[in-house]
Amino acid sequence: MLMDARKKAELIEAGGVEVDDSFMPYLSRSTAGPGAGLSSFFFSSGGRRVRLSVRESSPYKAVMDRGEVTIFKDGDVFVKGVLEEAISHCPGQVYVTVSEKCVFDCKYCPVPKLQGKIKSKDDVVKMALEGSRHPSFEAISLTSGVWKTPEEEVERVAEIVRELKQLNVPIGVSVYPTDDSSEILKEAGADEIKYNAETIDPDVFEKVCPGLSLDYIVKSLEHAVKIFGRNHVFTNIIIGLGETDETVIKGMDMLASKGIIPILRKVNPHPLRAGEVYTENVPAERLLKLAAEERKILDRYGLRADLALTGCLLCTGCDLVPHRDL
Ligand code: SF4
Repeated sequence: MLMDARKKAELIEAGGVEVDDSFMPYLSRSTAGPGAGLSSFFFSSGGRRVRLSVRESSPYKAVMDRGEVTIFKDGDVFVKGVLEEAISHCPGQVYVTVSEKCVFDCKYCPVPKLQGKIKSKDDVVKMALEGSRHPSFEAISLTSGVWKTPEEEVERVAEIVRELKQLNVPIGVSVYPTDDSSEILKEAGADEIKYNAETIDPDVFEKVCPGLSLDYIVKSLEHAVKIFGRNHVFTNIIIGLGETDETVIKGMDMLASKGIIPILRKVNPHPLRAGEVYTENVPAERLLKLAAEERKILDRYGLRADLALTGCLLCTGCDLVPHRDL
């Protein structure tokens, strides 16, 4: 009754579970990226981890008894495991969204609509110091919307990274790239970088990320590999925006050939974006197929997703991660 890659894929496909009252003290609200604003928890079983949103209605129902969690599917036991405590957003990491506002308007992302908080350097340092007391603390990940301009955001995040170096753990940064963002962030002390392409299909990109350039992001990622090294440069690719598997596989090959590791993320339609973007259900079968293809591609180019020191490839909560899950 442990979670294998297939069961994890099925839970990711479902996107969420129903819970009973015993979960209430353990639920956290995400401020980062496409899951922003939803309550969730982390479930671990069979050496794998999955982040599950809490839903009012789902075929899956989680029940907790003294820290042990059983997930039922249509009334039958589906998988057993434990609840994992998040430090700040996810287990083991202080993962902070620095600017919860964004001047861009990617159609699947709730951040521009939520108009959240702009955290100061002191806010982030305080969160990191608090998180660093947790026994599982092993990394810091900073992500940020673009509050004013990409250049100012990079400078703001770099200043925070300089301050956080005192905690002596790897630091990963995810921002919108600028011409010299990799140099600035590396000099500040960042160890890893993620510039999100979001989709590798140019036609879909044009529709969902108006005003942004896929070509520029890919060039910035390629340049980042020279600064941060292979296995330390990542990009999120959302699955379920209407792209074909063929396009995704070709795109993953192109990225990996440049030393960039893609993170395949199932689209997570947010209520604040209802009707603004085409999304489709992503079956577990498709997630498993694309992750297996990714594993083959990474192996062909000598890349390892399990060498990531920070961020989503270390957390693994939202995705099937090659070399970790399969
Ligand atoms: S995989 Fe990434 S986005 Fe998902 S919970 Fe973990 S750190 Fe957050």
